[in-house]
Amino acid sequence: MTPETMDAAGVAAHEAALGVALDAGRDVLFAGGSALEAVCAAVSALEDDPHFNAGRGAVFTYHGTNELDAAVMDGATRGAGAVCGVTHTRNPVSLARAVMEKSPHVFLSGAGAEEFAREQGVEMVDPDWFATEARWQQLQELKAKKLGWFDAGLKYGTVGAVAVDASGHVAAATSTGGLTGKRWGRIGDSPLIGAGTYADDRAAAISCTGSGEQFIRAAVAHEICARMRIGGERPQAATEAVLDEVGAMGGVGGVIYATPGGETGFAFTTPGMFRGRADSAGLREVGIFGES
Ligand code: ASP
Repeated sequence: MTPETMDAAGVAAHEAALGVALDAGRDVLFAGGSALEAVCAAVSALEDDPHFNAGRGAVFTYHGTNELDAAVMDGATRGAGAVCGVTHTRNPVSLARAVMEKSPHVFLSGAGAEEFAREQGVEMVDPDWFATEARWQQLQELKAKKLGWFDAGLKYGTVGAVAVDASGHVAAATSTGGLTGKRWGRIGDSPLIGAGTYADDRAAAISCTGSGEQFIRAAVAHEICARMRIGGERPQAATEAVLDEVGAMGGVGGVIYATPGGETGFAFTTPGMFRGRADSAGLREVGIFGES
């Protein structure tokens, strides 16, 4: 994702889509809602938007299906819910939240997760809902070029949100289709609590995107919180240090964070990362590439 590979219309479309999600989360907070409700609202909007690799517009597996992963975590209680490999749930983040709030479990997979979704009345759709032509072409490109198991350059667009509410509670949510051409039920970092998603009122809310295998090995989201909580590091320093660890393992990606004290920020080691940020003082910004 570089300025050379995205034309002006693409930039405008992505910025507009980011703005819709940002406003969805911000509106919840301005109405007095919780951080948890805000991150779910923002991520649901991104899942429904075909520009991003989550929900509608998710990347294709090697076998031509869309298999979705999501997680949510509440920093106030460290309650967490996650799902992986779902194929019919319109908003996987809503199902992750249901796992957290309505089941005794944290992490459900595949058919079982969707059996639970049906029991809970979570909205289900035909798998065609998720499929887009652009993502299909990316899979054909990957296969034609024999790029290997997967190509990190073909999968950008995992979505996530972090928020801090008026009570000083933080929450994080992440949702993804994973990597183009993934096989064998491969799951990345996004739905793994502590890897791609973590929230703890004693530190921060964290959501990640990037090379999932390295993010899992570095336990990125929890590691950032641990550096802050135990090591006393500032969130930006902790985030950059852990992204350096990921880099040393051969991975790239990005992180967004929010702290109970109201600090928000991000870092990424890719040429770009879709992002947006809003606060109660009137800040509202979206960005894609590295310049801002
Ligand atoms: N981290 C995600 C995964 O490995 C992919 C991404 O962030 O784009 O599944």
